[in-house]
Amino acid sequence: MTKKQLAELRKILEDERDRLLQRSRDAFTTGVDRFVEGGGRDELDEASEDGLKDQEIRLQNRERTLLKKITVALQRMQANEYELCESCGDEIGYARLKARPVATLCIKCKEEQEQDERQTVEDVEVFAPSKF
Ligand SMILES: [Zn+2]
Repeated sequence: MTKKQLAELRKILEDERDRLLQRSRDAFTTGVDRFVEGGGRDELDEASEDGLKDQEIRLQNRERTLLKKITVALQRMQANEYELCESCGDEIGYARLKARPVATLCIKCKEEQEQDERQTVEDVEVFAPSKF
């Protein structure tokens, strides 16, 4: 990947991060900043504690999950690992990263992992509104 392509992807990630942070500030007064800095409470605990409506919790969780992925992607960029698959070490490839800038796996490893990820999403859906 060229430096120009990398810079382009970094801008996409940073713009999306800023957009999410702005939205969070507009819509919620909870500790998004602390979350993004890597400290504070787990996002699921926080959502449950706040006792928001299910729909809001899901939206918020999704945005926070995305924010976390963006933060990870930017950290990976800084460590010069952004282009490399977390699992097998192959290059993820510019086309795939352009389509999905928070990708940390090459398409092959992603397909293998998809079953697990579906399971995780189901767990979250079941867990999030369980306070009541
Ligand atoms: Zn891989």
